[in-house]
Amino acid sequence: MTNRLDNIKAVLLDADDTLWENNMFFLQCIEWLCKTGRGMGFCDKAVLTILDSWEKHHIRLMGYGYGSFEQSLLATVKQLVMTGRYYSPGHAGLRKRALKWTAFLRTHPIIFMLGVEETLPHIASHYQTIVVTKGNHDDQMSKVQRSGLLPILDGVEVVHRKNVGDYISVLKKYNLKPEETVMIGNSPASDVNAPKRAGIRTVFVPHSKTWHFEVEPIQPGGPETIHVPHFAALRDVLKLPM
Ligand SMILES: [Mg+2]
Repeated sequence: MTNRLDNIKAVLLDADDTLWENNMFFLQCIEWLCKTGRGMGFCDKAVLTILDSWEKHHIRLMGYGYGSFEQSLLATVKQLVMTGRYYSPGHAGLRKRALKWTAFLRTHPIIFMLGVEETLPHIASHYQTIVVTKGNHDDQMSKVQRSGLLPILDGVEVVHRKNVGDYISVLKKYNLKPEETVMIGNSPASDVNAPKRAGIRTVFVPHSKTWHFEVEPIQPGGPETIHVPHFAALRDVLKLPM
């Protein structure tokens, strides 16, 4: 039987890869990038290493979001062209194609994770329910609006990094007690370990395509962390009527 949470008043919810698919679209773009790199003599690992180092650089400068990823993608394409062993006419216009990919990422269709459409309205009718997501404000709000979920939510917070300070700010803003609050999400780093440090209870809902920057061991100790196989299992964990 699944563990259940007692004495919860507020539910904080991650959005990307918890409520809807997100990283799968980035992976499609990265597959295109690897294919492009292969045509210039790079193995996939070399392409991914270049992209990773540009991403770390731009996240430090600009924070998370599509703008940051766009700069990293463009810098990677440029580096591949400048240092590749081969060049073909097919490599002309790569910058434009990279920008088409990031335009697609900014407007991708909302594909809900299994059980979200059935379960979330029940959560929202029983608990104060606030989406906590990180990245660029306008980009993240665009997805929330496109999802059609805005009317049933009590709030949406787009934070800079999802670190312990960001969670403490959310608790303060909504006047929530950490022990009466649960954060639910797919990222061990951002949705479990960071809120745990703020005293918040957590539910980990794994996603097979979680961004590798977000993967780390879940910290033992501290407020409880419940693992569920999928979003629909929250109905049991949050003791919602069947
Ligand atoms: Mg997520």
